[in-house]
Amino acid sequence: MAQDLVVPLAPNVWRIPLVRDLVNGFILRDDDGQVTLVDMGVSRSGPKVLAALAAVGSSPADVTRLVLTHAHPDHAGGAAYVARATGRGFTVHHDDAAYASEGTAPPRDRSFLLGRLFDRMSRPGKDFAPVVVEREMTDGEVLPIAGGVRVVHTPGHSPGHVSLLHETSGTLITGDAIFNVLGLRWPIRSFCTDFRMTQQTAHVLGELEYDVAAFTHGAELRSRPREAIRSFLLKHPVG
Ligand SMILES: [Zn+2]
Repeated sequence: MAQDLVVPLAPNVWRIPLVRDLVNGFILRDDDGQVTLVDMGVSRSGPKVLAALAAVGSSPADVTRLVLTHAHPDHAGGAAYVARATGRGFTVHHDDAAYASEGTAPPRDRSFLLGRLFDRMSRPGKDFAPVVVEREMTDGEVLPIAGGVRVVHTPGHSPGHVSLLHETSGTLITGDAIFNVLGLRWPIRSFCTDFRMTQQTAHVLGELEYDVAAFTHGAELRSRPREAIRSFLLKHPVG
């Protein structure tokens, strides 16, 4: 059923539940039919991204842009597959671009034991299949996607982690700055490059204007999402 493949968030904006609601990608469609895909899930998610595309009535040939919120294997895992199917390269923040093109996750926070362990296990090209980065994005720029998507650099989870604000529809894609899994929560510490910086930079999300908060991990918030995120940030000050 189409509703299992995509969740409509706003006109021409959909969430793709790639591993139930636990791992998500997104589709944004311009008025002229061009499609932008954001995040491709884990290594087996590629075919689901394409099935979601078909479910909204678009085809791989309609895809003109591929975007990664950051270079982690649960976001870039299906990226090479989708790149092959669409013939497109990736837009990635400058500070994660080298990781995306190497297929390596950025370093983990070594102030935590698990971070040190995962860091040691990481080998170049082994975290996910490398992708071609054809455009680097920077904080504050408005990408020419579906009427304009503002890049909000929220580093910490990874150096080049971004949240994305689709101003036309009032949809915020938080990325991994904040999860909505069993309630709002911080991303897993040991998967962050700098957990404290994650907490610090997430505060910008309380200052933006949006009507829907969409998460790469967890279902969206449609009812007073800014208030929910602000109160989470207030209750969880930088530790
Ligand atoms: Zn993630």
